[in-house]
Amino acid sequence: MSNAIMAPKMGEPYLLTPGPLTTSAKTKEAMLRDWGSWDGEFRALTAEMREGLLELTGDTEGVLDCVPMQGSGSFSVEAMLGSFVPRNGKVLVLSNGAYGMRIAQTLEYLNRDHTVINKGDYMPPRGPEVTAAIEADPAITHVIIVHCETSSGILNPVKEIADAVHAAGRKLLVDSMSAFGAVPLDFNEIPYVAMVSSANKCIEGVPGFGFIIARKDELEAAKGRSHSLSLDVHAQWAHMNKTGQWRFTPPTHVVVAFLEALRAHKAEGGVAGRGARYTENRDVVVEGLRELGFETLLKDRWVSPIIVTFFCPAHENFNFETFYESMKSKGFIIYPGKLTVVDSFRIGCIGQMDAGVMRQVVAAAKETLAEMGVDTAAPPEIALIERAKLAA
Ligand SMILES: *Cc1c(COP(=O)(O)O)cnc(C)c1O
Repeated sequence: MSNAIMAPKMGEPYLLTPGPLTTSAKTKEAMLRDWGSWDGEFRALTAEMREGLLELTGDTEGVLDCVPMQGSGSFSVEAMLGSFVPRNGKVLVLSNGAYGMRIAQTLEYLNRDHTVINKGDYMPPRGPEVTAAIEADPAITHVIIVHCETSSGILNPVKEIADAVHAAGRKLLVDSMSAFGAVPLDFNEIPYVAMVSSANKCIEGVPGFGFIIARKDELEAAKGRSHSLSLDVHAQWAHMNKTGQWRFTPPTHVVVAFLEALRAHKAEGGVAGRGARYTENRDVVVEGLRELGFETLLKDRWVSPIIVTFFCPAHENFNFETFYESMKSKGFIIYPGKLTVVDSFRIGCIGQMDAGVMRQVVAAAKETLAEMGVDTAAPPEIALIERAKLAA
């Protein structure tokens, strides 16, 4: 597997960010050719891509179909909400971070009735509170959960939520943007109406489109429902099935790069193989940074193999900008944190990186702390008080 990992070109830093991320040379090289979007060859590539994505769902009965959509991931989230929630529906949004809040904001724009269980920066939504919310508000038709909330890196208990939603006879939507392809989301265990992800996350493509995977009967029912011409999932699906083409100009180079990335994903062992590499990446960086005194925001049970939030050290010599620039000069682009209470930063574990790269990340952090005169990376007391609120 080690030969699957290729360092970026000399002088190009690794992106320890949750997409765009570091892609393989092969994926980048796939973009060095132009394609006619109407041409039979390109149509065949689109079909191969849709098939390849469906293979990752666990659906063996042909219940689901895959609809790619131009734009970044948020365009696909908006397309999904506008297409699968009827105009008289009501959505229960389970929010514990920026992406949950963005879903609520999108529903606001779409004029779709909704209610939010807001768990703040990182507390997980739980099954019993979903059950209670639906009992208290029978108008709720759909529940939406963010699989991995990328803003904190928490892996939400999606199975527990799905069970509560189905026991109450409601429909489930999943934003699996940053998890799909590396964390299992088996349709047989977690039957959703629709889920969404994008090209530049765990499949390791470059940015330019997202994709919605949905039940075919729900796709049929979505006809005429969308608020938007360009984000109408039913229209895109129907057109693609009829002609093999995207409705409007597809990001051709991004699609061929993605297909290359999808082949590498399969060669690595699919969701299990990809998930194993990311898990090892996470374990190496968490263990290494903890040895330097850093602490993770989350207790181990909740830490995703996608991205990890660390508290900034309390030491008076620590300065995030200096830390960032020094890490960058050593070849690693890290990611600022999004917590409101305590300063933090994030390290992404996804992309063309393996345990060896993650050990270099730890070494770079150690050197940087020494340069800054920070002898321990221990966080302030308040950070640990925050974390204690979280269940083990
Ligand atoms: C990346 C991401 C999105 C989409 O963000 P874009 O910037 O629009 O690509 C949505 N939800 C989650 C959980 C994400 O990680």
